[in-house]
Amino acid sequence: NTDELGEIKSVLPEWVEASRQLAEQGKVAAYIPELAKSPKDALGIYIMDTAGGSVSAGDCGLSFTMQSISKVFTLILALMDHGEAAVFSKVGMEPTGDNFNSMLKLELVEPSRPFNPLINAGAIAVTSLVGGDSSEERSLRILQFFRQLADNDSLDYDLDVYRSESETGHLNRSLAYYLKDKGILQDDVEAVLDIYFRHCAVKVTCSDLARMALVLALGGIDPSTGKSIIPRRYVQIAKVFMTTCGMYNASGEFAINVGLPAKSGVSGGILSIVPGRYGIGLVGPALNKKGNSVAGVNLLEKLSGEFGWSLF
Ligand code: GLN
Repeated sequence: NTDELGEIKSVLPEWVEASRQLAEQGKVAAYIPELAKSPKDALGIYIMDTAGGSVSAGDCGLSFTMQSISKVFTLILALMDHGEAAVFSKVGMEPTGDNFNSMLKLELVEPSRPFNPLINAGAIAVTSLVGGDSSEERSLRILQFFRQLADNDSLDYDLDVYRSESETGHLNRSLAYYLKDKGILQDDVEAVLDIYFRHCAVKVTCSDLARMALVLALGGIDPSTGKSIIPRRYVQIAKVFMTTCGMYNASGEFAINVGLPAKSGVSGGILSIVPGRYGIGLVGPALNKKGNSVAGVNLLEKLSGEFGWSLF
């Protein structure tokens, strides 16, 4: 393991520069106006191993918002708060093959509920399950959970991105009102959307994501204390969704070419894990047509291919 980390260290800067060239082929997300300001050519990666070692290369100092990556952790928190039966009464367990914000197929699952917790409709339903007495408290619980996993008490919102999405998120609003109509959302719709937009706007760096990923790679064990902070079963559920739905409607292709559980966000972030071994955080804001970081996916293909990380 240590030897491999050394090998990664020696090749990573070069591989990052090679993958960075692909950013040109992609586009920075602009449907959230504030995200359009992201640096298109940036690419950074941070890898942490279970023994406290780490490697990084490229633009690791760049801050970006978690966006859809946050959905993995709100799912875990909802499972910890209410258990599997409650969560899966609101969302299904199957991939859709559609865009992350699609309105298609919402009617098709019986009983009527979003296909899975990683598409927007499913994630909004899951966010509504996070416990707390007020929406402020529920948002704070989510933020504190993210801080614990990242081992970083200063994690906070990017308020510009939060406001930008809150002002323009009409599609997510319509999904949420649909869920309300179907009885899947019990609470005030705008309050749930506020919690959702906030957790999508938590600002991180690659090392924060790598640390969060490492907890998953360890089956829920906090690498600093050795104590379990997420039940193993819930980590297992999260890893399954990351594998089947984590890269949106490119999850099958990613499973073939990389073969690791991963979750991407429209800010260009990707969190991935090599179970039992590494937590990986990366960012490359230029996205391909399916909404995943072009350079980031390329870099993960290279790493997984050369070091034989595919789980399959
Ligand atoms: N906040 C974003 C949205 O709801 C998250 C989507 C994403 O990263 N794919 O549209």
